[in-house]
Amino acid sequence: MKGSIHSKVVHDAALRKLHDRGVKLEDIAEIVYEMQCPYHPNLTMDICMESVRKVLEKRELQHALLVGIELDELAERGLLSQPLQQLVEADEGLFGCDETLALGSVLGYGSIAVTTFGHLDKHKIGIIKKLDTKKGNGIHTFLDDMVASVAASAAGRIAHRYRDELEREAETAAGREE
Ligand code: MG
Repeated sequence: MKGSIHSKVVHDAALRKLHDRGVKLEDIAEIVYEMQCPYHPNLTMDICMESVRKVLEKRELQHALLVGIELDELAERGLLSQPLQQLVEADEGLFGCDETLALGSVLGYGSIAVTTFGHLDKHKIGIIKKLDTKKGNGIHTFLDDMVASVAASAAGRIAHRYRDELEREAETAAGREE
């Protein structure tokens, strides 16, 4: 394992970056709640928080967060070369690399995560809206999409686990009837 970075180091760095950029896990959990509550009658904020924490254990998400936030921070300091500096700084609508990076990291959570990501990308709810560079301070060209990616992954995870739960309950009920 010579030269490899322990996964805990990467995990902690990704969480620290989110925190440093003003994103609380609760903010992401609120989006997850809004996305999943129509389908999940017993959904609580605790379930959403747990799901956010769990998806943040995935390397795909950690790596994408680190790359995206780093580019936002470099752009804030004017350290990217042109024309990339201008593209990231202006959150140029046709740039698309922010969405592509974020979309790639939700694929492990299936089609519900992908469609939820598309919805969040279009409607930008909660903290995602606040991060919109055009309305606030700082450059969050990548971060808004990465928050959508974490929320969409956590929502997809909840949807699949809820189905598993219903099936387990049905099996237990059927077992009792035998
Ligand atoms: Mg963006």
